Parts: sequence; C-alpha cells; structure tokens
Amino acid sequence: MYSPHDRRLAVSLLDSGISSTEVSRRTGIDRSTLREWTRDRSLVDRYLGTDLCPRCEPIPRPPSRPDAYAYLLGLYLGDGCLTPAGDPTKGVWRLRIMCSDDRPGLIDECARALALIRPDHVVSRVPSQGCTEVHGNWKHWPCLLPQHGPGKKHERRIILEPWQRRIVDEHTGPFVRGLIHSDGCRLVNRVKRKTPKDGRTHYEYPRYQFVNVSVDIVELFTEALDRLGIAWKRHVQRREEPRRDLHVVSVSKRDAVARMDDFVGPEY
Ligand SMILES: [Zn+2]
Repeated sequence: MYSPHDRRLAVSLLDSGISSTEVSRRTGIDRSTLREWTRDRSLVDRYLGTDLCPRCEPIPRPPSRPDAYAYLLGLYLGDGCLTPAGDPTKGVWRLRIMCSDDRPGLIDECARALALIRPDHVVSRVPSQGCTEVHGNWKHWPCLLPQHGPGKKHERRIILEPWQRRIVDEHTGPFVRGLIHSDGCRLVNRVKRKTPKDGRTHYEYPRYQFVNVSVDIVELFTEALDRLGIAWKRHVQRREEPRRDLHVVSVSKRDAVARMDDFVGPEY
C-alpha cells in the first residue's frame, strides 16, 4: 500500500507533466498503477477523500474551478470573512458571506460557488435580520484566501498572491461580478426632461457603483475594469462617524454599463 503522501505527490507530479517512468522512479510506485490512476482519477480521489486542499499538495495547484474561485474571491473581498468554527483549537474556519434577502438569486449563486470549490460538503444558510449568511467550514479556507488576517480588511494590505492574480486575470468577469454582488450595486437614475413634442419624457440611466473602505480592494476592482476595457470614475466620500473614508467607483458611461450588463446584470 502507498501512503496518502506518496499518492498525492505522484498525482501532482503526473499533473505537472512529468512522465510516469520518472514519477515511478521518484516515488517507487509502479508504472502500471500510475497509468491506472491517470486513466481513472476517481481511484485516487476515492482513496484520498475530498478534503484535499489544492494549496497543500506537494506541488500546490490552483483550485480546480477557477471561474467559481474568482467569483468567490470577489464575494470574500467585498463582504466576506473567516472566523473560527466551533472549538478554536481544532483549527476549522468558517467562510461567511452575507447576502441580502432581497437578492435571492445571489444567495443561490454564492452557495453554488462555495459548493463548487468544496464539493461534497455542507453549505449552510443562516437567516439573520434582512439577510442570509451563507457559510461553509473547512480547515483550509486560509490557504485559499490568504488575505485573511487579524483586524479589518481596510486596516491591512490586501495583495493577491501570484496564483490568485493569474486566476483573476483569466476570469476577470466573475471576479468583478463577485465584488459587485457583495459590495456594489446597479442603480437606475430617472431623469425628467421636457421635450417640445409631448411635454414630459422620463429618461433612465442605469449605472454601477462599488463602495469600499479598503484602498487595495478598490484598486483590485478598478484594475479588473481596466483589463475589461470598462470606463470608471472614482471619488472619495469623507465621513466623520465612523472615521473611514468611503471609496466610490462608478461605471456610468452607456457602453461601459452595457458591458457590465453582459456579465453582472440587474440584481436578482
Ligand atoms: Zn491547505
């Protein structure tokens, strides 16, 4: 029998493109077994269980659903947090994302993203005043969300790791969608104007807004918009109580709003 560590190492090496002959030489696992694992991954997964953390494997890899991860990262950075789940000595963390009850579609989408990142595990929904907390417990959430740290997000630097940066660069749309879903909105301004023909006409101007107190998170958001070629404007709203300035990013040009509607859309 091979140890779980040897199995993980072998699979990581095979995934990185090293030949089965070489992997066999390095791990001592015979080649026919390796070939069987390559053909039928469930043989390995069944043995290792589903508690595998992609960042804790001998060769760390990105999560297997990068699109769902990019969305979840956006939700987490916008309005999510990690707290110890139950007995703190057990080292289990709870990823908690608050979703407003008037956006039931978002609650479902958030729960779906959590389930895709951690299949076969329970995603819970806990009702609270006006909102629902969607959460899942796992020891490895801090591995996938290394921005976790003591204190509030705006009081520490928020910098993506290179592997996260690659995912966000490739799945920028879902990342922006997650940020807007947690800490942004789509607003509609109605403007009344008189026209010579029929007196009064109403014009509607939809726009998107993202509001956050963390300069780093706001910059991640505007960098993502730049990558998508979406025009934005930013201003700072000074506040006395609490004494934290709000950074407000607006997307209001017609073609920019249309682009955002392609992958964010009205709240649902
Ligand atoms: Zn881990």
